[in-house]
Amino acid sequence: MTRNHPDVTLLAHNYVRPEVQDAADFVGDSLELARLATGTGTPFIVVAGVDFMAETAAVLNPDRTVLHPEPCASCAMALRLRPEAVLAARAEHPDAAVVAYVNTSAEVKAVSDICCTSANAVQVVNALEEDEVIFLPDRNLAAHVAARTTKTVFPVPALGCCPVHQILTPADLAAARRAYPGAEVMVHPECTPAVQDAADFTGSTSQMLRRARETPAGTVIVGTEIGMLHRLERDVPGKRFFPASPLLVCPDMKMMTLEVVERAIERRSPAVTVTAGVAGGARAALERMLALPGP
Ligand code: SF4
Repeated sequence: MTRNHPDVTLLAHNYVRPEVQDAADFVGDSLELARLATGTGTPFIVVAGVDFMAETAAVLNPDRTVLHPEPCASCAMALRLRPEAVLAARAEHPDAAVVAYVNTSAEVKAVSDICCTSANAVQVVNALEEDEVIFLPDRNLAAHVAARTTKTVFPVPALGCCPVHQILTPADLAAARRAYPGAEVMVHPECTPAVQDAADFTGSTSQMLRRARETPAGTVIVGTEIGMLHRLERDVPGKRFFPASPLLVCPDMKMMTLEVVERAIERRSPAVTVTAGVAGGARAALERMLALPGP
């Protein structure tokens, strides 16, 4: 799609529609997109994903213009956390470091110490000097981290979650196993601890992709947003992939249609703006994460 627009790079998340993934210059998870956003040489970066992904690209690239083709495409989990709640948690746990999952607004990142993604959350927490961590904003990813660290993890907000992954149940996995005997079950760490316990593998979308290539299983049940199936089918030919539930659909990711992406590229709009004060704090938290070695 960007062939006729050499000044534009199109980045797409693994959860967007198949046709948008196919049109992108690069498809990846949040960590890959954050790293890639800093490595693109074009003056325009188009982010096909939800708002925090475009904000992250804008914060990391103050000298480039970042376009978010559908500004209404927001992460429902990120929307629920305001910086005031983070500051209140800091006051309650003054010795704790604040780790913000990238699925947060730039305002929340700006009052955090370091960011993480689902691919590197455990690594980020274990790399901190502090023994206590305030973890934002997904209680399921927080529980995943808490089970893999000796540090004390305080999830904030206490009931924060991704509404898409939260609906998956152990009964869904059992039903999928009955339907596809011998299949391997992979789930995302945004799923509940009970679902993670009932799966064969838990990982970010990039880790799922790696596992799908390596597993001897020829059939894989995928417990994450349904867009990931296209990425898996495209990159791991010869294996069969089935959704753990047909309900694993993020409506905001699906707002990113080919039409809105094309229109944004043609018009070089709408651009993402983050105020300088917020961007500075958010950039510090993101760059601290990016300075760590890759997972
Ligand atoms: S799948 Fe969940 S975490 Fe990802 S953008 Fe949608 S609501 Fe947010």
